Amino acid sequence: MINRIDHIAIAVQDLDVALGTFLNVLGCDPASVVIEEVPAEKVRVAFITIGESHIELLEPIGQEGPVSKFIAKNGEGMHHIALATDNIGKETERVTALGINPLGEPSTGAGGKQIVFLHPRQTNRVLLELVEPKDHHH
Ligand code: ZN
Repeated sequence: MINRIDHIAIAVQDLDVALGTFLNVLGCDPASVVIEEVPAEKVRVAFITIGESHIELLEPIGQEGPVSKFIAKNGEGMHHIALATDNIGKETERVTALGINPLGEPSTGAGGKQIVFLHPRQTNRVLLELVEPKDHHH
């Protein structure tokens, strides 16, 4: 089951500058921010917590990763919407049966969560991500 929006991700050129802007706009406590590098995705990530959801800021590392290519093509801006699920394997199978192509197998992303991206072609050019929080076990 998909049960809520986990985060909305924004591609940015400069994480520190963008983080300052978003913390100001949201009026959030800087202590609520988690910053980490995800070498597999070639990004530096900041998670800002807002209630049960997050805003994820994505800064590319180098020129080769998907976020770097996204910014080169589209400029900064909304990158994806992440949907929380209690069973990523089952939901990936379910949407695959609807004709949506997962971009690879579920794998470990930021925060040690299981994630998979879904090709945006079938979803009005919106890149979706399924996320399974790591406190779920099957
Ligand atoms: Zn994400």
